[in-house]
Amino acid sequence: MLSCADATRRVSESLDHPLPLRTRIGLRLHLMMCSACWRFSKQIRGLERLLRGPRKGSEAADSTEEDPQRLSPSKREAIKRALRR
Ligand SMILES: [Zn+2]
Repeated sequence: MLSCADATRRVSESLDHPLPLRTRIGLRLHLMMCSACWRFSKQIRGLERLLRGPRKGSEAADSTEEDPQRLSPSKREAIKRALRR
């Protein structure tokens, strides 16, 4: 089982590059059981969506296939700065 530190790190890593399937599954399991990390991940995704603009089926898409390549480097930096506060 992932620790909270691992889980949050992976959530932010997923903004930089798609996570391997195994990692994603482990992360999802953790998020299902840990409300703190779940909130954290919701926050990040909300932020990401704000920066990137609305996507069709945003909630349904959830964490299955995010598309970090479409995020420009400056927007990625903005998210990372927000995460570090
Ligand atoms: Zn956790």
